[in-house]
Parts: sequence; C-alpha cells; structure tokens
Amino acid sequence: MGSTIVSSLVAASPPPPGDGKQVQLQAFPIIEPTVRYGVALDTFSLSLDTIQFGQTLSDILLGMGMEPLDALRSSNTFNDMLDVRNLRAGLTYQVLDDPDTKGPDYMIYSPSVYRYLKLDLQNGGQDEYVKLPIRVEEGLAAGKIESSLWNAMVDSGHSFALTDKMEDALQWSVDFYHVQKGDAFQLVYEQEYVEDSEAGFGRVKAARYSTGGKDIYAFYFVSKDSTQQGYFGLDGQPKDALFLKAPVRYSRISSRFNLRRFHPVQRRVKPHLGTDYAAPYGTPIVAVANGTISKSGRTRGNGIYVKIRHDKRYSTQYLHMQKRAPGMVVGKRVNQGDVIGYVGSTGLATGPHVCFRFWENGRQVDHTRLNFPDAEPMPEEYLPEFFELRDTYLAQLNSVGDPIEKPSEDDATVSK
Ligand SMILES: [Zn+2]
Repeated sequence: MGSTIVSSLVAASPPPPGDGKQVQLQAFPIIEPTVRYGVALDTFSLSLDTIQFGQTLSDILLGMGMEPLDALRSSNTFNDMLDVRNLRAGLTYQVLDDPDTKGPDYMIYSPSVYRYLKLDLQNGGQDEYVKLPIRVEEGLAAGKIESSLWNAMVDSGHSFALTDKMEDALQWSVDFYHVQKGDAFQLVYEQEYVEDSEAGFGRVKAARYSTGGKDIYAFYFVSKDSTQQGYFGLDGQPKDALFLKAPVRYSRISSRFNLRRFHPVQRRVKPHLGTDYAAPYGTPIVAVANGTISKSGRTRGNGIYVKIRHDKRYSTQYLHMQKRAPGMVVGKRVNQGDVIGYVGSTGLATGPHVCFRFWENGRQVDHTRLNFPDAEPMPEEYLPEFFELRDTYLAQLNSVGDPIEKPSEDDATVSK
C-alpha cells in the first residue's frame, strides 16, 4: 500500500493546485514496511511540494534550511547529472523527514517515473542519482473509432500516449488525419513497468488498422542476424517508406494544395503550392525523409523556414516556423523523423500552421497525390523467420478483434 501511494505521488502531474505558496501535505500513514529510494520509508514522514516557476534546486535546499555552501555544492553536483538549473515547474518533489533528527532528511526529485535524484540533507552532499530498472511486458489493446482516435483509445481503457506508438508503427501506411467512424485497431504493445507500476510504453510490436474495407498491418521484426529491422507488412514487405505522410502529428490539414486558392492574407487568388497542417504553436515539425538542408532562413512570405533536399528528384520545404531546431543550417544531414523546427505563424500566416511544400524535379506538387517508390523488399531467405513471428502476433491481434478482410484462400502463407 505504501508503495502505491508513493508511486502515485511520483507520477503526480499535473501538480496539485497551488497558488504560488508551497503546499505541505500531511504525512501518509504507512502500514507495511516499504523500502523505496534505498530507505525504509516507514521511519519518515513524507511531504510533497510543487516546484514553482523559476525555482532552482539551491532555492529549494536553502528553503529547507541547508547551509548556503552545501546547497550550492549539491546543486552543482546534480547539475552534471541532471539539468537542475531547469527544474520543471509544476513537477513535485518529496521531503522525507525522520522525526528523530533535526530538520528534513532526504529530498527526492523524480523528473520522470524512470529515475530519481536523492539528496541527503543531513550529510550535506551525499547524493544519489538512480535510474530505475524497467520491466517490459506485452499488452493487448483494441478499439473502434466512434468520434476520434483519442476517444477510441481512452474508451478502450488505454492512455492516449499509446496512440503515438501506434502511429510510429503505421505512419507510412495509415493517414491518421482522416480516421473515420467505424475504423478499428488492434495492437500488441510493450508496457513498461517501474517498481511494479505502469510507466510508459515501449514499441508497438504488431498493429492492425482496419479502414475503408482494408486491413493494414505492421509487425516489428528484427532478424536473428539483425540485418533486417523495422516494421513489415503481412507479406513481409517493409512498411517504412521513403516519406512520412506528414511533417507534424495530431494536426489537421487546414488548406490543401490548390492552384486557384483565394489567399486569406493577401486577399487575391493565388495558387497554394503546399499543404497546410494546423497545429498548436511549438508543435515539433519533423523531416519527412532523410536528406540535407539546402535552405534555412527567413523571408517576408515564408517566415522562418527550412528546405531539405532528399535526392536528385525530391525536396521538401517547411514554412512559417516559430523557430528552427538547433543546428538546422545549410549542409546539415537530417534523418526521417528528426525535429527540424516548431510550428509558428511567422511570415504571411493567419495562425499557427506549417505550410508543407513538396518539390519533384524542381516543381511544386501535391504530395498527397503522389505514389512514392517502395523501400527495398526483404530478401526471401528471411521470410520464414518473419512469418513465424508474424503468425504469433496475428493470433494475439485476433484474440482482441477481427480483421475486416478475409485472407485470400490461395495465399498459403497467411495463417488464421
Ligand atoms: Zn500553405
């Protein structure tokens, strides 16, 4: 019981409501002996405080009555391991107080459920930074879209964060901007546990997304010799394409490629040679494919933008950024999925969005209508190994939902 309380404290985010004052909570009654953070918690009273905006570790330590020199030294030590100069406002820390000693004994700060920082306040300077072991178990999830992907995931009893992992698996083949009522999904995913509490998600190992009369599959496979690695479809062909479907997640297309669009800012008919994805300020923008930055700058119309040359044939361009990610200068190599900037509204823009432009042989084209070349197929000798794994996952997917397509009769390799 004690550990449940503590773990829910550690995970406590958003913080308890506070109005700038530090809220001292009462000590929790602890029934079973509980060892956590390397101490027997039973002998301490626990209190929980919220980090205030702009508060530094030494502010907190001074506030607890630590000597200024000790506080400074501890802060410096920890800054090497963890950026304590930037404690995250709103996160909580715990103070462990043994009533038999004078003053508080330990301060525990967990920037995430995966790690914590322990400061021994009695022996100013004794410190520990611990990465907790992660245990991984496979979990199953299934849902059906009634209104949104968010609702479908949450209604099925799962965290929305799992949607992100599902998108990792299916991003090349499912257009998540156009999910439809009646779409369904089943997943085999990695659930991470830290100290027996659910922490985050690892990878989605297998996914089936059913939409428009089709089942789309992705299976994560690493061959025994590690030469084949990534997501593969039902037939063992790679799912990862040359290009991602969009440069931002959870956005919506607010304006399509259109040669006769009425421009909302300039108030005249002007071709729209890109696809606009509306998303909140600061949303990361990612490179849709590997390439080299060919332009990086600011113009009156484009605002802050980056252009990437992918190969002789294709380039992409990302406009109206709030700012670029560090190091995004001409000549820099980027990989598919790398963050290159953040959504903004610089230049001629009415609201936060990224205007995404796709160039083919020097001409701007509508990327939503292009068929891209496939990735290299998996060499045949790996297929038996892949099919074995796939069939295991397929059975798991089938245990929580049904496909909408019947597997073809003459395809002997498709079991179930
Ligand atoms: Zn645009």
